[in-house]
Amino acid sequence: MQSNDSQGESISLKESRFSRFESIDWWKQETLDSAKVLVVGAGALGNEVIKNLALLGVGHLAIVDMDRIEESNLSRSSLFRSEHEGEFKAERAAKSAKDLYPKIKVESYVGKIQSDIGYGLFRWADIVVGALDNREARIFVNRACTYVGRPWIDGGIDVLNGVARGFQAPQTACYECTMSKVDWDLIQNRQSCSLHARRALANRGVPTTPTTSSVIGAIQAQEVLKYLHGLESIIGKGFLFEGLAHNSYKIEYSINPACDLHYEQAEIHNDHDLSNRSTMRQIFQWGEKRLGKVEALDIYREIVSRTSCPQCGQMTECFVNAETIPVSDTFCSRCEVEKIPEYLHSLGPDSPYLDKTVSSFGLPENEILWLRNSEKCIGIDLTEIPFQSHV
Ligand SMILES: [Zn+2]
Ligand SMILES: [Zn+2]
Repeated sequence: MQSNDSQGESISLKESRFSRFESIDWWKQETLDSAKVLVVGAGALGNEVIKNLALLGVGHLAIVDMDRIEESNLSRSSLFRSEHEGEFKAERAAKSAKDLYPKIKVESYVGKIQSDIGYGLFRWADIVVGALDNREARIFVNRACTYVGRPWIDGGIDVLNGVARGFQAPQTACYECTMSKVDWDLIQNRQSCSLHARRALANRGVPTTPTTSSVIGAIQAQEVLKYLHGLESIIGKGFLFEGLAHNSYKIEYSINPACDLHYEQAEIHNDHDLSNRSTMRQIFQWGEKRLGKVEALDIYREIVSRTSCPQCGQMTECFVNAETIPVSDTFCSRCEVEKIPEYLHSLGPDSPYLDKTVSSFGLPENEILWLRNSEKCIGIDLTEIPFQSHV
Protein backbone atom coordinates (compact mmCIF):
# COMPACT_ATOMS: atom_id res chain seq x y z
CA MET A 1 0.00 0.00 0.00
CA GLN A 2 1.30 3.44 -0.92
CA SER A 3 1.77 5.95 1.82
CA ASN A 4 0.76 9.60 1.40
CA ASP A 5 4.41 10.49 1.35
CA SER A 6 5.20 8.37 -1.67
CA GLN A 7 2.10 9.75 -3.43
CA GLY A 8 3.43 13.20 -2.75
CA GLU A 9 6.71 12.17 -4.31
CA SER A 10 5.11 10.80 -7.44
CA ILE A 11 3.22 14.08 -7.89
CA SER A 12 6.38 16.11 -7.47
CA LEU A 13 8.07 14.05 -10.22
CA LYS A 14 5.52 15.47 -12.68
CA GLU A 15 6.51 19.05 -11.97
CA SER A 16 6.67 21.23 -15.05
CA ARG A 17 9.95 22.53 -16.45
CA PHE A 18 9.88 25.82 -14.54
CA SER A 19 7.94 24.88 -11.43
CA ARG A 20 10.97 25.26 -9.14
CA PHE A 21 11.31 28.84 -10.37
CA GLU A 22 7.62 29.59 -10.06
CA SER A 23 7.64 28.90 -6.35
CA ILE A 24 9.92 31.96 -5.96
CA ASP A 25 7.51 34.73 -5.00
CA TRP A 26 8.76 37.46 -7.32
CA TRP A 27 9.38 35.15 -10.31
CA LYS A 28 7.48 35.80 -13.54
CA GLN A 29 8.17 33.09 -16.09
CA GLU A 30 6.00 34.95 -18.62
CA THR A 31 8.33 37.96 -18.32
CA LEU A 32 11.29 35.75 -19.19
CA ASP A 33 9.32 34.09 -21.97
CA SER A 34 8.69 37.41 -23.69
CA ALA A 35 12.19 38.79 -23.00
CA LYS A 36 14.62 39.56 -25.83
CA VAL A 37 18.30 39.36 -25.02
CA LEU A 38 21.24 40.05 -27.32
CA VAL A 39 24.48 38.28 -26.38
CA VAL A 40 27.57 39.69 -28.06
CA GLY A 41 30.34 37.10 -28.04
CA ALA A 42 30.02 33.31 -27.90
CA GLY A 43 33.42 32.49 -26.41
CA ALA A 44 34.07 31.14 -22.91
CA LEU A 45 31.98 33.81 -21.18
CA GLY A 46 29.27 33.87 -23.87
CA ASN A 47 28.83 30.10 -23.55
CA GLU A 48 28.09 30.45 -19.84
CA VAL A 49 25.71 33.37 -20.34
CA ILE A 50 23.82 31.65 -23.17
CA LYS A 51 23.59 28.37 -21.24
CA ASN A 52 22.10 30.13 -18.21
CA LEU A 53 19.66 32.27 -20.21
CA ALA A 54 18.39 29.16 -22.02
CA LEU A 55 18.00 27.25 -18.73
CA LEU A 56 16.12 30.21 -17.21
CA GLY A 57 13.62 30.09 -20.07
CA VAL A 58 14.43 33.41 -21.76
CA GLY A 59 12.19 33.37 -24.83
CA HIS A 60 14.22 35.24 -27.46
CA LEU A 61 17.95 35.25 -27.87
CA ALA A 62 20.19 36.77 -30.52
CA ILE A 63 23.83 35.66 -30.54
CA VAL A 64 26.65 37.48 -32.33
CA ASP A 65 30.15 36.13 -32.93
CA MET A 66 32.46 36.17 -35.93
CA ASP A 67 34.75 33.23 -35.10
CA ARG A 68 34.74 29.53 -35.75
CA ILE A 69 35.16 26.87 -33.06
CA GLU A 70 38.76 25.72 -32.59
CA GLU A 71 40.18 22.93 -30.47
CA SER A 72 41.46 25.42 -27.88
CA ASN A 73 37.87 26.59 -27.24
CA LEU A 74 36.76 23.15 -26.10
CA SER A 75 38.31 23.40 -22.64
CA ARG A 76 36.29 26.53 -21.86
CA SER A 77 33.00 26.22 -23.71
CA SER A 78 30.18 24.11 -22.30
CA LEU A 79 28.09 24.41 -25.48
CA PHE A 80 30.74 23.06 -27.90
CA ARG A 81 31.96 19.50 -28.59
CA SER A 82 34.96 18.31 -30.58
CA GLU A 83 32.76 17.40 -33.56
CA HIS A 84 31.76 21.09 -33.77
CA GLU A 85 35.27 22.24 -34.63
CA GLY A 86 35.15 24.50 -37.67
CA GLU A 87 31.52 25.55 -37.16
CA PHE A 88 30.68 29.18 -36.40
CA LYS A 89 30.48 29.74 -32.64
CA ALA A 90 27.30 31.82 -32.94
CA GLU A 91 25.50 29.12 -34.95
CA ARG A 92 26.55 26.23 -32.72
CA ALA A 93 25.79 28.19 -29.54
CA ALA A 94 22.30 28.88 -30.92
CA LYS A 95 21.74 25.17 -31.65
CA SER A 96 22.98 24.18 -28.20
CA ALA A 97 20.69 26.77 -26.57
CA LYS A 98 17.79 25.18 -28.43
CA ASP A 99 18.87 21.72 -27.19
CA LEU A 100 18.81 23.04 -23.63
CA TYR A 101 15.44 24.78 -24.07
CA PRO A 102 13.59 23.71 -27.22
CA LYS A 103 11.00 26.51 -26.99
CA ILE A 104 13.60 29.27 -27.21
CA LYS A 105 13.58 31.45 -30.33
CA VAL A 106 17.21 31.98 -31.09
CA GLU A 107 18.92 33.64 -34.00
CA SER A 108 22.66 33.70 -34.73
CA TYR A 109 24.59 36.47 -36.47
CA VAL A 110 28.04 35.64 -37.80
CA GLY A 111 29.99 38.84 -38.12
CA LYS A 112 32.11 41.48 -36.54
CA ILE A 113 30.17 43.64 -34.13
CA GLN A 114 31.68 46.95 -35.30
CA SER A 115 30.89 46.41 -38.98
CA ASP A 116 28.35 43.66 -39.57
CA ILE A 117 25.66 44.06 -36.92
CA GLY A 118 23.09 46.82 -37.30
CA TYR A 119 22.09 49.08 -34.44
CA GLY A 120 18.52 47.83 -34.96
CA LEU A 121 19.48 44.52 -33.35
CA PHE A 122 20.51 46.38 -30.19
CA ARG A 123 17.19 48.21 -30.26
CA TRP A 124 15.32 44.92 -30.73
CA ALA A 125 16.74 43.65 -27.44
CA ASP A 126 15.40 44.51 -23.97
CA ILE A 127 18.91 44.14 -22.60
CA VAL A 128 22.33 43.35 -24.08
CA VAL A 129 25.06 41.15 -22.62
CA GLY A 130 28.69 41.74 -23.58
CA ALA A 131 30.88 38.64 -23.46
CA LEU A 132 33.85 40.34 -25.08
CA ASP A 133 37.59 40.27 -24.74
CA ASN A 134 38.67 43.68 -26.01
CA ARG A 135 38.10 47.37 -25.32
CA GLU A 136 37.20 48.34 -28.89
CA ALA A 137 34.27 45.94 -29.00
CA ARG A 138 33.13 47.12 -25.55
CA ILE A 139 33.25 50.74 -26.67
CA PHE A 140 31.18 49.84 -29.71
CA VAL A 141 28.57 47.91 -27.69
CA ASN A 142 28.46 50.73 -25.13
CA ARG A 143 27.79 53.32 -27.82
CA ALA A 144 25.29 51.15 -29.68
CA CYS A 145 23.33 50.58 -26.45
CA THR A 146 23.47 54.29 -25.66
CA TYR A 147 22.20 55.33 -29.11
CA VAL A 148 19.18 53.04 -28.80
CA GLY A 149 18.58 53.43 -25.05
CA ARG A 150 19.27 49.88 -23.90
CA PRO A 151 21.11 48.70 -20.78
CA TRP A 152 24.01 46.28 -21.09
CA ILE A 153 25.89 43.95 -18.77
CA ASP A 154 29.60 43.68 -19.44
CA GLY A 155 31.74 40.80 -18.24
CA GLY A 156 35.49 40.41 -18.12
CA ILE A 157 37.74 37.61 -16.95
CA ASP A 158 41.43 37.42 -16.18
CA VAL A 159 42.65 34.03 -14.93
CA LEU A 160 41.21 33.79 -11.38
CA ASN A 161 39.70 37.27 -11.34
CA GLY A 162 36.64 38.65 -13.01
CA VAL A 163 34.29 41.59 -13.22
CA ALA A 164 30.64 42.06 -14.14
CA ARG A 165 29.16 45.53 -14.50
CA GLY A 166 26.06 47.16 -15.83
CA PHE A 167 25.64 50.36 -17.81
CA GLN A 168 22.74 52.41 -19.05
CA ALA A 169 23.73 55.78 -20.41
CA PRO A 170 22.65 58.51 -20.17
CA GLN A 171 21.02 57.71 -16.79
CA THR A 172 23.97 55.88 -15.20
CA ALA A 173 27.70 55.79 -15.79
CA CYS A 174 28.64 54.05 -19.02
CA TYR A 175 31.63 51.93 -20.00
CA GLU A 176 33.49 54.96 -21.34
CA CYS A 177 32.98 56.75 -18.00
CA THR A 178 34.98 53.96 -16.36
CA MET A 179 37.89 54.10 -18.79
CA SER A 180 41.17 55.48 -17.50
CA LYS A 181 43.64 57.62 -19.41
CA VAL A 182 45.77 54.51 -19.92
CA ASP A 183 42.81 52.73 -21.54
CA TRP A 184 42.24 55.66 -23.89
CA ASP A 185 45.95 55.86 -24.73
CA LEU A 186 45.94 52.18 -25.70
CA ILE A 187 42.92 52.73 -27.95
CA GLN A 188 44.46 55.80 -29.50
CA ASN A 189 47.72 53.98 -30.17
CA ARG A 190 45.79 51.37 -32.06
CA GLN A 191 43.75 53.92 -33.98
CA SER A 192 46.80 55.86 -35.01
CA CYS A 193 48.17 52.67 -36.59
CA SER A 194 47.55 52.02 -40.25
CA LEU A 195 44.47 50.02 -41.19
CA HIS A 196 46.76 47.09 -41.86
CA ALA A 197 48.43 47.18 -38.43
CA ARG A 198 45.08 47.66 -36.69
CA ARG A 199 43.87 44.39 -38.17
CA ALA A 200 46.91 42.51 -36.90
CA LEU A 201 46.51 43.91 -33.37
CA ALA A 202 42.85 42.98 -33.16
CA ASN A 203 43.16 39.22 -32.77
CA ARG A 204 45.01 38.39 -29.60
CA GLY A 205 43.81 35.69 -27.25
CA VAL A 206 43.39 36.48 -23.56
CA PRO A 207 44.02 33.92 -20.81
CA THR A 208 40.74 32.44 -19.60
CA THR A 209 39.56 29.45 -17.61
CA PRO A 210 36.13 27.79 -17.61
CA THR A 211 35.82 28.29 -13.85
CA THR A 212 36.12 32.08 -13.77
CA SER A 213 33.91 32.21 -16.90
CA SER A 214 31.26 30.26 -14.95
CA VAL A 215 31.39 32.70 -12.03
CA ILE A 216 31.17 35.86 -14.12
CA GLY A 217 28.82 34.46 -16.81
CA ALA A 218 26.44 33.36 -14.05
CA ILE A 219 26.49 36.80 -12.47
CA GLN A 220 25.78 38.39 -15.85
CA ALA A 221 22.83 36.07 -16.54
CA GLN A 222 21.50 36.61 -13.02
CA GLU A 223 21.71 40.37 -13.47
CA VAL A 224 19.66 40.02 -16.69
CA LEU A 225 17.12 38.04 -14.68
CA LYS A 226 16.97 40.73 -11.98
CA TYR A 227 16.74 43.57 -14.48
CA LEU A 228 13.89 41.88 -16.37
CA HIS A 229 12.00 41.44 -13.10
CA GLY A 230 12.49 45.07 -12.12
CA LEU A 231 14.64 44.12 -9.11
CA GLU A 232 17.60 46.19 -8.06
CA SER A 233 20.36 45.21 -10.50
CA ILE A 234 23.97 45.93 -11.29
CA ILE A 235 23.16 48.77 -13.74
CA GLY A 236 25.53 51.65 -12.90
CA LYS A 237 27.56 49.36 -10.66
CA GLY A 238 30.24 46.71 -10.82
CA PHE A 239 30.92 43.38 -9.12
CA LEU A 240 34.60 42.54 -8.75
CA PHE A 241 35.70 39.04 -7.95
CA GLU A 242 39.19 38.02 -6.84
CA GLY A 243 39.42 34.27 -7.09
CA LEU A 244 42.67 33.70 -5.19
CA ALA A 245 41.62 35.05 -1.79
CA HIS A 246 37.87 34.97 -2.55
CA ASN A 247 37.39 38.64 -2.08
CA SER A 248 34.49 40.15 -3.89
CA TYR A 249 33.16 43.66 -3.68
CA LYS A 250 30.81 46.10 -5.29
CA ILE A 251 31.69 49.37 -6.96
CA GLU A 252 29.35 52.22 -7.76
CA TYR A 253 30.42 54.12 -10.87
CA SER A 254 29.76 57.81 -11.25
CA ILE A 255 29.13 59.59 -14.54
CA ASN A 256 32.31 61.16 -15.88
CA PRO A 257 31.40 64.81 -16.64
CA ALA A 258 33.78 64.67 -19.62
CA CYS A 259 32.00 61.67 -21.15
CA ASP A 260 29.99 62.82 -24.16
CA LEU A 261 27.46 59.98 -24.16
CA HIS A 262 25.15 61.49 -21.54
CA TYR A 263 22.72 63.48 -23.61
CA GLU A 264 19.04 62.88 -24.23
CA GLN A 265 18.49 59.95 -26.56
CA ALA A 266 17.16 60.72 -30.06
CA GLU A 267 13.72 59.39 -31.03
CA ILE A 268 13.98 56.41 -33.33
CA HIS A 269 11.30 55.57 -35.88
CA ASN A 270 10.45 52.66 -38.16
CA ASP A 271 9.03 52.95 -41.65
CA HIS A 272 8.17 49.75 -43.47
CA ASP A 273 8.71 51.44 -46.85
CA LEU A 274 12.40 51.89 -46.08
CA SER A 275 15.15 49.26 -45.89
CA ASN A 276 18.86 49.06 -46.56
CA ARG A 277 17.95 48.81 -50.26
CA SER A 278 16.56 52.36 -50.10
CA THR A 279 18.68 55.20 -51.42
CA MET A 280 20.14 57.84 -49.15
CA ARG A 281 17.92 60.35 -51.00
CA GLN A 282 14.82 58.41 -49.88
CA ILE A 283 16.14 58.46 -46.31
CA PHE A 284 16.72 62.21 -46.59
CA GLN A 285 13.19 62.74 -47.92
CA TRP A 286 11.77 60.68 -45.06
CA GLY A 287 13.67 62.94 -42.64
CA GLU A 288 12.40 66.10 -44.33
CA LYS A 289 8.81 64.99 -43.73
CA ARG A 290 9.52 64.85 -40.00
CA LEU A 291 12.09 67.55 -39.42
CA GLY A 292 11.36 70.02 -42.21
CA LYS A 293 14.90 70.88 -43.10
CA VAL A 294 17.56 68.14 -42.85
CA GLU A 295 21.11 69.37 -42.62
CA ALA A 296 22.87 66.04 -42.43
CA LEU A 297 22.41 62.30 -42.54
CA ASP A 298 24.84 60.76 -40.09
CA ILE A 299 26.35 57.27 -40.21
CA TYR A 300 27.59 56.10 -36.81
CA ARG A 301 30.22 53.82 -38.35
CA GLU A 302 33.75 54.09 -39.62
CA ILE A 303 33.16 53.86 -43.37
CA VAL A 304 36.13 54.32 -45.72
CA SER A 305 34.71 56.05 -48.80
CA ARG A 306 37.95 56.04 -50.77
CA THR A 307 41.67 55.47 -50.49
CA SER A 308 44.37 57.48 -52.19
CA CYS A 309 48.02 56.74 -52.82
CA PRO A 310 50.34 59.36 -51.29
CA GLN A 311 52.86 58.81 -54.12
CA CYS A 312 51.02 58.45 -57.42
CA GLY A 313 47.78 60.02 -56.21
CA GLN A 314 45.66 57.16 -57.50
CA MET A 315 42.23 57.28 -55.88
CA THR A 316 39.88 54.30 -55.43
CA GLU A 317 36.27 54.52 -54.26
CA CYS A 318 35.48 51.66 -51.92
CA PHE A 319 32.67 52.26 -49.35
CA VAL A 320 33.62 49.61 -46.87
CA ASN A 321 33.89 49.53 -43.09
CA ALA A 322 37.41 50.30 -41.81
CA GLU A 323 37.26 47.12 -39.70
CA THR A 324 36.71 44.85 -42.68
CA ILE A 325 38.44 46.60 -45.56
CA PRO A 326 40.45 44.00 -47.54
CA VAL A 327 44.18 44.45 -47.01
CA SER A 328 44.65 44.53 -50.80
CA ASP A 329 42.49 47.68 -50.94
CA THR A 330 44.84 49.50 -48.57
CA PHE A 331 47.95 49.15 -50.76
CA CYS A 332 48.84 50.84 -54.02
CA SER A 333 50.00 47.96 -56.19
CA ARG A 334 52.00 50.30 -58.41
CA CYS A 335 53.99 52.11 -55.69
CA GLU A 336 53.78 49.36 -53.02
CA VAL A 337 52.90 51.85 -50.29
CA GLU A 338 49.90 52.01 -48.00
CA LYS A 339 47.10 54.24 -49.25
CA ILE A 340 45.49 56.95 -47.12
CA PRO A 341 41.87 56.25 -46.19
CA GLU A 342 39.17 58.93 -46.35
CA TYR A 343 36.33 58.42 -43.90
CA LEU A 344 32.70 59.26 -44.44
CA HIS A 345 30.51 59.88 -41.39
CA SER A 346 27.93 62.25 -42.75
CA LEU A 347 26.09 63.16 -45.97
CA GLY A 348 24.84 66.67 -46.62
CA PRO A 349 21.82 67.55 -48.82
CA ASP A 350 24.19 68.16 -51.75
CA SER A 351 26.24 64.98 -51.35
CA PRO A 352 27.11 63.31 -54.68
CA TYR A 353 26.29 59.94 -53.07
CA LEU A 354 22.58 60.44 -52.38
CA ASP A 355 21.48 58.01 -55.10
CA LYS A 356 23.50 55.16 -53.68
CA THR A 357 21.63 52.60 -51.59
CA VAL A 358 22.23 52.24 -47.86
CA SER A 359 23.77 48.77 -48.29
CA SER A 360 26.21 50.00 -50.97
CA PHE A 361 27.87 52.17 -48.29
CA GLY A 362 29.12 48.99 -46.64
CA LEU A 363 26.45 49.28 -43.93
CA PRO A 364 24.97 46.15 -42.37
CA GLU A 365 21.37 44.99 -42.34
CA ASN A 366 19.21 46.25 -39.48
CA GLU A 367 21.06 49.56 -39.47
CA ILE A 368 19.85 52.80 -37.94
CA LEU A 369 20.69 56.10 -39.67
CA TRP A 370 20.43 59.52 -38.09
CA LEU A 371 19.01 62.74 -39.52
CA ARG A 372 19.53 66.11 -37.97
CA ASN A 373 19.14 69.83 -38.23
CA SER A 374 20.28 72.46 -35.75
CA GLU A 375 17.38 71.68 -33.40
CA LYS A 376 16.78 67.97 -33.47
CA CYS A 377 18.18 64.57 -34.35
CA ILE A 378 16.03 61.52 -35.13
CA GLY A 379 16.90 57.95 -36.06
CA ILE A 380 15.37 55.75 -38.74
CA ASP A 381 15.56 52.03 -37.94
CA LEU A 382 15.84 50.00 -41.17
CA THR A 383 15.47 46.65 -39.39
CA GLU A 384 13.42 44.16 -41.35
CA ILE A 385 12.01 41.86 -38.66
CA PRO A 386 14.85 39.59 -37.55
CA PHE A 387 12.41 37.43 -35.56
CA GLN A 388 8.79 36.54 -36.20
CA SER A 389 7.98 37.84 -32.76
CA HIS A 390 9.58 41.19 -33.51
CA VAL A 391 7.13 44.08 -33.58
ZN1 LIG B 1 29.70 57.82 -19.98
ZN1 LIG C 1 50.61 54.71 -55.96
